[in-house]
Amino acid sequence: DLTLPRPRQRRVFTVANQKGGVGKTTTTVNIAVALALAGLHVLVVDLDPQGNASTALGAERRLGTPSVYEVLLGEIEAAEAIQTCPDAPRLGVLPATIDLAGAEIELVTMEQRESRLKGAIDSIRGEYDYVFIDCPPSLGLLTINAMTATQEVLIPIQCEYYALEGLGQLLNNISLIQQHLNTQLAVTTVLLTMYDGRTKLADQVAQEVRGHFQEKVLRTVIPRSVKVSEAPGFGQSVITYDAGSRGAMAYLDAAREIAHRGTNRDVSRETDVADP
Ligand code: ADP
Ligand code: MG
Repeated sequence: DLTLPRPRQRRVFTVANQKGGVGKTTTTVNIAVALALAGLHVLVVDLDPQGNASTALGAERRLGTPSVYEVLLGEIEAAEAIQTCPDAPRLGVLPATIDLAGAEIELVTMEQRESRLKGAIDSIRGEYDYVFIDCPPSLGLLTINAMTATQEVLIPIQCEYYALEGLGQLLNNISLIQQHLNTQLAVTTVLLTMYDGRTKLADQVAQEVRGHFQEKVLRTVIPRSVKVSEAPGFGQSVITYDAGSRGAMAYLDAAREIAHRGTNRDVSRETDVADP
């Protein structure tokens, strides 16, 4: 049975790592599809001008398509730009077009430049159980908007050389946003990606990451697999592209873990209640 529990409240994740190519988009897309296929309502917000998440989810992103850009500018409501993923009826996509490349600069002089996405997401009524915001590989205003709109940060970490390089900067930014913009924000989830079991290095990196982030690191590790990298070329997640593949199974497991363990805050609340 694939059904997963609904969270008590909508969970909004920023998927971030300022390094490119670590699996942010792949993780966003596949976790979102896995949760949607398990019966949950999920929204993916594509906040990367590259629009890879939109493409992988089969969303339209031609120039002129209503997108997250117009939403950030306040020209339209988020609901007007959300498309339904062709592979998963419960999965909505707020796509990115190339216009978004200008937003990083355009936002600078706008009022409430850090919290425009928050306003838009908070205004989406009803059904979504999970929202995942796929960030560009930078710590600029787009990523700040994501973190201001979110309670949870999911950090994908590639099991490769220099995996932890730059993470200090990311964590620093997160703590600045906690202090000044969003006291709710926390890193709740770390996912090891592109793991190659044949190399000693991958194991060392995994151990180092677990040593640093402890219980925030999912037990599930995503293996490096050709199927995972092929799927987006077909406008699909690996789960719809090849459900039996190792990559698909791993992302289904990771989604299950995320759904079952809830937020760290939920866990501590449950512990409090259990304690006499
Ligand atoms: P980011 O969004 O952080 O830049 P992507 O998710 O786009 O990273 O992944 C970078 C590249 O690596 C893409 O070409 C993607 O298809 C590939 N990739 C991601 N995860 C895996 C994996 N588990 N196995 C093989 N290739 C992967
Ligand atoms: Mg990406």
